[in-house]
Amino acid sequence: MTTAYPDTRLLINNEWVDAEGGRTIDVVNPATGQAIGKVAHATKADMDRALAAAQKGFETWRALPAIERATIMRRAAGLLRERADAIGRLLTQEQGKPLAEAKGEALAGAGIIEWFADEGLRVYGRIVPARVANVQQLVIKEPVGPIAAFTPWNFPINQVVRKLGAALATGCSFLVKAPEETPASPAALLQCFVDAGIPPGVIGLLYGTPSEISEYLISHPIIRKVTFTGSTAVGKQLAALAGSHMKRVTMELGGHAPVIVAEDADVALAVKAVSAAKFRNAGQVCISPTRFLVHSSIRAEFAQAMVKHAEGLKLGDGLADGTTLGPLANPRRLTAMAQVVNDAAAKGATVATGGERVGSSGNFFAPTILTDVPLDASVFNDEPFGPIAALRSFDRLEDAIAEANRLPYGLAAYAYTRSYKNVQLLSHGIEAGMVWINQPATPTAEFPFGGIKDSGYGSEGGPEAMEAYLNSKAVSITAV
Ligand code: NAD
Repeated sequence: MTTAYPDTRLLINNEWVDAEGGRTIDVVNPATGQAIGKVAHATKADMDRALAAAQKGFETWRALPAIERATIMRRAAGLLRERADAIGRLLTQEQGKPLAEAKGEALAGAGIIEWFADEGLRVYGRIVPARVANVQQLVIKEPVGPIAAFTPWNFPINQVVRKLGAALATGCSFLVKAPEETPASPAALLQCFVDAGIPPGVIGLLYGTPSEISEYLISHPIIRKVTFTGSTAVGKQLAALAGSHMKRVTMELGGHAPVIVAEDADVALAVKAVSAAKFRNAGQVCISPTRFLVHSSIRAEFAQAMVKHAEGLKLGDGLADGTTLGPLANPRRLTAMAQVVNDAAAKGATVATGGERVGSSGNFFAPTILTDVPLDASVFNDEPFGPIAALRSFDRLEDAIAEANRLPYGLAAYAYTRSYKNVQLLSHGIEAGMVWINQPATPTAEFPFGGIKDSGYGSEGGPEAMEAYLNSKAVSITAV
């Protein structure tokens, strides 16, 4: 069953509206290469209306008791859960991932919204003992204000939900420029909030030319905080702009996650966890395992098992039964994958499986394992963001840790070992915002999610995610 794919409009003041002048952008199904719908392209006048709505929405929303905000959020999460199948079908058509992953993203989104709704009830502030009598010192937590969010196409729902959840729970209003390539599923997500009774202006949705919207919103005095997920290059530009306007920022940027498989690792466990993670969403995941560093004594066994896993995947349209690997989200990624493989092969790597585009329509690229990859190959330096695993071997764990830390990125890292000594070395030695040892990633709402170094700053999980949307106001009162 396919769900008819709708055109997407802008959400301003709880109304879905065409862009002024009616300009649109085509939306293309990456499995077929065919245009399936359109999305409105906002003008400056549309942005001005959305900003004014966000300001009014903020005043209404911050005044609502946290428990009432939580009720609306929980109702929206319930609707998202009810609609997960239909929304998942939209997501698969516009983004390509297999339906089970798309539906899972919507369901996980509902859980994240609920967690933030509850966390909003625990924004406590504190009382600080004063140094003199008759004085009471309070630390009051207040919402930062209207938020401008910029989210990418790889997780069209999840990337919005993490920002939206924290913003709404703390009493901020939220204006998001979601991805033009995958516009319908974020719109369906926001519709859940409209249907749940969120007051007008609290949430808004824009599409258009990303640089035009980000420059205008970030510079605008109504916006008080900026949050972005995407590439490091764009993140640096937006952080610089936000800095010049003294705006708070959260940046969740690219990574290049090392996987260190030590001599004493449970190889079967490692292969099972990392190969599933590697090919999830066709590798277009910021925490995707990408640089595999495997002890030389188990290198052949590990590589063989990865190849076996890759060759067992079923590549196809995400809506088709049995598909476990969908197309890449856009033709840019196909070009990038071909460059990555050709560069590695030219520098001496072995293409153990895959390495090529599959078919001539749709953005299908075979799951690829590269072995004996030299350090100067681009795949070991630039985030591949696709279904490619690059393997190298090492002899000393210290060298593997040094290699993990060689790049400017520091988002996710994975390691496999049975020894406590190695666990200590790895968990303290790896420079990353998130380290998962002997297990797959668990990016739950209650756990910090974010990077260091060129992978950005701030967190989109746990109490840290709430803090990013709050000001601390010190109020000292003398009784007279
Ligand atoms: P890109 O850098 O052009 O865009 C990445 C995202 O940023 C897109 O959603 C885009 O709409 C947005 N964007 C681009 N310029 C912007 C601007 N000036 N203002 C606001 N938003 C802007 O790259 P791409 O080809 O779409 O994606 C490829 C690269 O992006 C990948 O190699 C990966 O590193 C990165 N990426 C990272 C994530 C993540 O989860 N961290 C998600 C998607 C893409």
